[in-house]
Amino acid sequence: MAALVLVAVGLVVETGGLFAVGAVFVLVVPFEKLFPRHRQPIRRPDVGTDIGYALAGGLLNIIGLIAAVPVAVLSLAWLPGLLLRPAVAMIPPIVAPVIGLLLFDLAIYWTHRWYHEVPLLWRFHAIHHSTERLDWISGFRTHPLDGTLIAPAVIFLLAAGFSPEVTGALAVVQIVIGIFLHANVRWRLRPLHRVIITPDFHHWHHANEPEAINSNYSVFLPSWDLLFGTYFMPDDRRPQRYGVDEFVPAGMVAQLRHPLRGLPPMRRLLWLGLRHPWRSVRAVARLGRRHILVPIRRSGLRRRRTAGLSGAR
Ligand SMILES: [Zn+2]
Ligand SMILES: [Zn+2]
Repeated sequence: MAALVLVAVGLVVETGGLFAVGAVFVLVVPFEKLFPRHRQPIRRPDVGTDIGYALAGGLLNIIGLIAAVPVAVLSLAWLPGLLLRPAVAMIPPIVAPVIGLLLFDLAIYWTHRWYHEVPLLWRFHAIHHSTERLDWISGFRTHPLDGTLIAPAVIFLLAAGFSPEVTGALAVVQIVIGIFLHANVRWRLRPLHRVIITPDFHHWHHANEPEAINSNYSVFLPSWDLLFGTYFMPDDRRPQRYGVDEFVPAGMVAQLRHPLRGLPPMRRLLWLGLRHPWRSVRAVARLGRRHILVPIRRSGLRRRRTAGLSGAR
């Protein structure tokens, strides 16, 4: 019932969800039927959940956009952006989109890696990875607070002086390509493996197999995974099992609430902030250090191709 309300409000806010489902169905399903990677029907288990995410997109995206503002500010990604600004100003306009793409992709590589390897962030990203079957619709399963993953990259580019048009176009292209990468198609596209990411590359990213954990974070160019030691594309086999080991409930509404369990309620934090502003700033800084900065450092320093960090993938 609650899921139907979310879908209805989502469609009132933005009918694009309906268009997106129709467009992806028409564009992807024929290829999945002609070149299937795994034999599975369109009406596979949990397909309704993923269609629900797509239809409620209008509402979920608004929640994601609101959450993206504090994430962008607190990420401090605008700081290196401002430092790069004089250099970016010297780039000829014709090559600016290419440099923008490289910087955007590099920034997303690291935020995506941290959304996996920092347990507090993984709570939200785990919802996207909880799908056990990849296909035309599974890419839509994303928690709105996980959507904040691209916020640091966007603020970084804007602060560096790239135009809102270039930055916005990169974000939109990344999201659209992301949907298609989940398709259940068997193309290996071997010559492209090290050049640009393919469905096979992203399927390994979703694989729930020990060797594949914490790999293939790039969203445009595999070069970042090759450079930072997280590239995983074995020649002799293909991913068989997707999903996560930990418990993730079935159904959109339960999944939207799941990552929030055990977190202090917003109301209590705001109340504490009003009553003891200085004490609460110090408490938040302490928590941020313990739950964000220390795991980020650990993720950056871990040995290349070391799988499985405690508490996260
Ligand atoms: Zn991921
Ligand atoms: Zn994915």
